[in-house]
Amino acid sequence: MTQSEISATFGEVISRIPAPVHCGIVPPHILEHLVAHAEDLAVREAAERSLALDALHREQRVLPPPAARALLPERSLTTPQRTVSDDHHTERLPGRTVRTEGAPPVADRTVDRAYDGLGATFDFYLAAYRRHSIDDRGLPLDAIVHYGQKYDNAFWNGSRMIFGDGDGVLFNDFTVSVDVIGHELTHGVTQFSANLDYQGQSGALNESVSDVFGSLVKQYALGQTADRADWLIGAGLLAPQVQGIALRSMRAPGTAYDDPSLGTDPQPATMAGYVDSSGDNGGVHLNSGIPNHAFYLAATAIGGYAWERAGQIWYDVLTGGGIAASADFAEFAAATVAAAETRYGAGAEARAVREAWVQVGVITQN
Ligand SMILES: [Zn+2]
Repeated sequence: MTQSEISATFGEVISRIPAPVHCGIVPPHILEHLVAHAEDLAVREAAERSLALDALHREQRVLPPPAARALLPERSLTTPQRTVSDDHHTERLPGRTVRTEGAPPVADRTVDRAYDGLGATFDFYLAAYRRHSIDDRGLPLDAIVHYGQKYDNAFWNGSRMIFGDGDGVLFNDFTVSVDVIGHELTHGVTQFSANLDYQGQSGALNESVSDVFGSLVKQYALGQTADRADWLIGAGLLAPQVQGIALRSMRAPGTAYDDPSLGTDPQPATMAGYVDSSGDNGGVHLNSGIPNHAFYLAATAIGGYAWERAGQIWYDVLTGGGIAASADFAEFAAATVAAAETRYGAGAEARAVREAWVQVGVITQN
């Protein structure tokens, strides 16, 4: 292959890759509250620095997979290809490679948790939906740990997962919650499927889909049925002194934390609490509570393992090609009811899905 042929092929590969969204698992409203209200100066400074880094990455977010990787002719479709790198508290990417696929655990628990979380997400999508990595084409999964100093976030930048260590006062190491890893990698799945616009209601759906499948990654890894799951995003991420249990609750949006430094969980559970906001891309991390709660209601009404029927219905909508990138809550709700009927007939599943959307006020009972 000549250089110009490689360039042409690479250009073709790049043109197929939709632009990723930038979502840090800690939404801006929490970090802004910390900057304004945290008593501890070091906590305020860490939050301020994290917000600045998030803004930087938001502008730089279009990072396709490395050329050499993208051009590899033979990717494994049934085993992950993981690489974990250590940033050594700098902000220089991609850091030094410390663990590759198949290598044994290392002395650093953060490295191993990142490696395991990437694997758990890969295994979940393969086992539950026969999806081969986040692009369904065996995309290698790369992670960078120990990014920056006391960086209060974790995100997917379009080609990699990046984890901070947290400030150590309010936030623990960001590799501790497997649902956080599932959440961020699902932004990649959405990027390669429905590609929901990251603004307003379609943006809140983009966020919600990441919470749904992030939680399902954890439920699958633990073998939990819907009634046994905690339905939390980021359990274990908040340090013991924080008055809160997680970043978000799908069972009870708006109740995950109530803390002097973090503020009060502002998520609505129903359309009655819908937030009109110009910040955070139109409140994508706020109003996601509504479709999150709809999924929780549908999954618990259907019962059993949530990834099997409720998750399958949501997955069919996300990847089926029938939903517009600009879809609003009502369009998405109608699509899930239709997907339930297509896959399971006009029975209990479709009724549970419809009733869930009615309970959160997105569709009206007829
Ligand atoms: Zn997100």
